[in-house]
Amino acid sequence: MTDSYEENRTKGQLLPVYCSKCYRDTQHRVISSYESNGSSEDDGEDWGSSSQIIQCQGCLEVSFRRVNSYSGWWQQVSENECDPGDQIILYGYATIFL
Ligand SMILES: [Zn+2]
Repeated sequence: MTDSYEENRTKGQLLPVYCSKCYRDTQHRVISSYESNGSSEDDGEDWGSSSQIIQCQGCLEVSFRRVNSYSGWWQQVSENECDPGDQIILYGYATIFL
């Protein structure tokens, strides 16, 4: 089992993401990111995650996005189309009362 880490592999990418301030999908730029990747020699599966600080290019609101991927989630949808089954978690605009 190996895990490796890499900084800013997706930095600068533009992604359509729902903005809770604009109330619609807008272009978001990845400001900074941190990626991890691992694989298992036992079953040949591999996995990765990308944690990204993203900024809406409309209202400039900053939020956090995380993408988890796992080779076991991959699915063939049609003959030449596949769904990687990525799990996408958005953290934005949540208010925490302490
Ligand atoms: Zn926005």
